[in-house]
Order: sequence, then C-alpha cells, then structure tokens
Amino acid sequence: MGIAVGVLTGTLINNAYIDEARETVLGSEYSQATPQQLQEKAQSINEELRRRVVATPIGAGIQGLSLIFMNLLKMIVVPLVFFSLVLGIVGMKEGKRLGRIGIKTGAWYVTTSLLAIITGLVLVNIVGPGRGTNIQIPTQAVEAQLPDSFWDVIASMIPDNVVEAAASFDMFGIIFFSVLFGIFLLLVEEKTRAGMLSFIEGGAAVMMKMTQFIISLAPVGVAALIANTVATSGPKIFVSLLPYVLTVAAALGIHCLVTLPLLLLLLTRRHPYRYMRAMSPALLTGFSTASSSGTLAVTMERANKGAGVSDRITSFVLPLGATVNMDGTALYECVTVLFIAQIHAAAHPEFPELTLGNQILIVFLALMVSIGAAGIPHAGLVMMVIILQAVHLPIEYTSLIWGVDRVLDMARTMTNIWSDSTGAAVIAHSENELDDSVLFSPRRDYT
Ligand code: ASP
Repeated sequence: MGIAVGVLTGTLINNAYIDEARETVLGSEYSQATPQQLQEKAQSINEELRRRVVATPIGAGIQGLSLIFMNLLKMIVVPLVFFSLVLGIVGMKEGKRLGRIGIKTGAWYVTTSLLAIITGLVLVNIVGPGRGTNIQIPTQAVEAQLPDSFWDVIASMIPDNVVEAAASFDMFGIIFFSVLFGIFLLLVEEKTRAGMLSFIEGGAAVMMKMTQFIISLAPVGVAALIANTVATSGPKIFVSLLPYVLTVAAALGIHCLVTLPLLLLLLTRRHPYRYMRAMSPALLTGFSTASSSGTLAVTMERANKGAGVSDRITSFVLPLGATVNMDGTALYECVTVLFIAQIHAAAHPEFPELTLGNQILIVFLALMVSIGAAGIPHAGLVMMVIILQAVHLPIEYTSLIWGVDRVLDMARTMTNIWSDSTGAAVIAHSENELDDSVLFSPRRDYT
C-alpha cells in the first residue's frame, strides 16, 4: 500500500516538474533533445528537478518524512548492534555448556551462511545487475575512499575512542567493542555478571520493541521514501531493479533447492525433499510473515512432530537459529551491497571499484549482520546500514530497496528457516536423535 501511494505520488510530481527541469538545463529546445543528450545531462537535470521538487510544500513534506524515517532507522542501529551482539556472545556460552552439540550447531550456522553468501557473491558479480544503470539518488557526499591495505583494515577495526566510534557510526569499532564486551562479561565474577547481564537483556528487549515500532511506521516512511525517489528519478527506476530482484531470487533458489538439500543428503542420507515437504508449513508461514522468530513455534513443531528430530535438538538448534542463523539474510546483504556499489559506481565514475579485499570485507560483514539481525520483517534492510557505512557507500540507496524489500524479505526468511531446519536434522542425525519412524520410514539409504 505504502509502495503504491509512493509510486503514484512520485510519478505525479515527476511528471509535473520534469519538463521545467529539462528546459532549465537544455534550453527551450529541450523537447527535441535526443536520448543521448538527455543521458549526458541526466545528473544536472536530476539536480535541477530535485531543487524544484523540494521548493514545493508537498515535495518538502515528502522529503521531510523520508528524512525522519531514515533518521529513526539510523538512530537504533548502534544500541541495537551493541545489545544484540553482547547477548549473542553470552548466548554462545550456553552453546558451550552443551558442548559437542553447540560446536556442531555453530559450525553449521557459519558454514551454510558462508555458502549462501558466496552463492550471492558469485551471481551478483556475473550478472552485474547494477552495472551501467543510470540511477541518480540524492545522496550526501561520501568520501570516495576505501580502506586499502590489509593492516589499514585491521587497524581501523579497533576504535581508539569507543564513544567517538559510536558517534561517527564506525560500525567496525562498535562491533569490535561489543564482541570484546561480551567475551569479558563472561569472565567477570558471577555476582557482577548477573547485574550487567540483566541490564543487557533489558536493553536488548527494549531495542527490539523500539525497532518493531519504527518498522511499524514503514508504510508511511516507505511511501515518503519511494515518492521522493520516484519524484526525483522517474518511475522507470523500478525497471532497473528487476535484474537485482531476480539475482537475489536466483541465488536464494540455488541455496534452498541445491546447496542445502545436497548437504542434507550427504550428511544424513535422508531424502531432502521429503523433509522439505514435512517442513513446508513452517516454510510457508515464514514466507507469509517474513519473520523467523514469529514462525519459530511452527518450525519446532514440524521438526519435532513432523520429522522426528528429538526434543533436545529441536529446543536447542531452532530457537538459537531463528535469531543467529540467517543464510537468506546473509546472501541478501551481500548481493544488495554489491548491487548498490555497482549503481553508485555507474553514477559516480570517481568512485573506486570494489577490490577483492573490499568484497571479502563485505562477506565478513554480511555474516556479522546476519548473526546480529533480529528475526522480524525488514531487519536485514535496517542492519544493512552497517555494511554501507563500512564501505563508504551512501545509505540513501536503501530507499530504493525499500520498494522491493517485502518480497525479498519473504523469500529470505523462508531460506533462513529452511537452513535452521536442515541444521536440526543434520545435528539430530549425527547424535542419533532422528527418529526415522516419524517421517523417514521406510528409510532408503543413498549410499
Ligand atoms: N525477516 C528476516 C527473518 O525474520 C530477517 C531479515 O529481514 O532479513 O528471518
């Protein structure tokens, strides 16, 4: 709904002012300008158009609303990352208590997330959905500078002043500090830890609620963002997004239908698609709610009652997985950031190409973000700010993605849940806790 209102309003405003803007830039013969001339002057026309739109009360209101929404989203990132990462680290202690299962679970989470990211990385580099596009988004100037040497990158991850790191949105610094904070929290004595831990738990719960509230403003915020984008860039902008959406969908498809089933088959010798069918109520709930956490009860019920995964494995692997293991989100972060880098480079030739080192950095951050993101709708897009900031890309590009995020969110949430579910089966099998009489009998071995 917000999307439709945004596109409509934006198109009307765009139609109302585009001719005047062209006339100002190209002179009175603007209507005879060739597509090539229009292309050459696209940036000036775009700037002129933006100036005119913002000068009108409606245009100014729309821009104001989109700024408010963007600022709210940015506002929550630092505390959200801090509380959820510290809690995540402390949670891993729980995993350690469970020893072997904890290690296997962690290994499954990291391996499958990395496989997902690599699938996305390869596809986005081959397809190049953002290459050669001409998308002009009003962005604040960012220095066209990337950390160059290995040591620079490592050194810049360690903040010399943690308050300044938070104030200047230095996400590496914040992540580094939060991880250390979590580790050392586990090392202080019990009495002190209990107090701090309940503060962290409270903080995380508050930030989760606040995030949900801000996301609930999305219909208005998204309408304003999209109206603003379409008004200044024209409705054709969505056509340019189609290759990107298809790239994400194809990469998710490969991960869900090939990689994860193959792992399941190799590691458990059970029929992957039979398991997928048993899990399908959870997958479909995830698809329609776009929330792994919201689907958790269904996922647990299906794995346990529908596929014979033991109580112990179900109650350990799935709840943790719903917030920590997000293959779909990780893949989506990677593809989206590289897509944004491609469109930014197309519009700003001075922006340096992302080197292999930068791409590895993005892989690492995509993994971090997928671990830190909450299992609620749009969390992945909210957290993307972290990666964009880290590689010096303007976060305003996320306004483009909001227009298509709902469908992508549905698909990536389903992927997240499928990865948790396959993980539960693999770990249950390895512990001899997969009851074949429930789903897999008669059991055919694929050896
Ligand atoms: N909606 C996703 C989930 O709940 C998280 C995301 O936005 O990527 O799994």
